Amino acid sequence: MDFNKEEVNKLEFSVIENEEGKEKDDEDICRVCGSNSGFIVGYNEKEQIYKYECKNCGAITAVNSDGEEIFLKGEERDWVKYLSENLEFPFMAEITEMSDREIFNPDDPGPICYMDIVKVLEVIYSFKYGVEAVIKKGRKKYTQILCFMEAVDSDSRNYVEIENYKRWRDIYWKSDYLTALIDGFKGK
Ligand SMILES: [Zn+2]
Repeated sequence: MDFNKEEVNKLEFSVIENEEGKEKDDEDICRVCGSNSGFIVGYNEKEQIYKYECKNCGAITAVNSDGEEIFLKGEERDWVKYLSENLEFPFMAEITEMSDREIFNPDDPGPICYMDIVKVLEVIYSFKYGVEAVIKKGRKKYTQILCFMEAVDSDSRNYVEIENYKRWRDIYWKSDYLTALIDGFKGK
């Protein structure tokens, strides 16, 4: 069979969530929302196709024996749009990573440093880094890579959304900058 949405949707899947060895790994994360809170897993033995339904966002993907993954429900998320609409601004965040400048030039580490507490005003698209946050420290505004921070209030929805984004980014994000560079090399 062809591995596409229409064909896969014709298949029957048996739910195997709790069967040892067939559960989607705990370290696996949703391709849409980045959640690792678990999946409802189905398996079609004849075609050797797994189906994963995200308990957090409802997205459904299928994975075949070659490791190809397709969407049955949902689509790749526009993270800038999503976070702009779903985070509550402004909020306080802590910088959780050191910048290169801070590591290599400790005498002049730059305006934003590890463990700084900053105010996040909005998120914006970044060609190089995916999503950046517009932040305020003191009276000045800066931009900082969103995955370099976490919301101070760890009980907030903002915290959860940003952690989900980071998990998603670690696995699925492709830099538009690198893509453009590679296309450049290929002479596209
Ligand atoms: Zn999800």
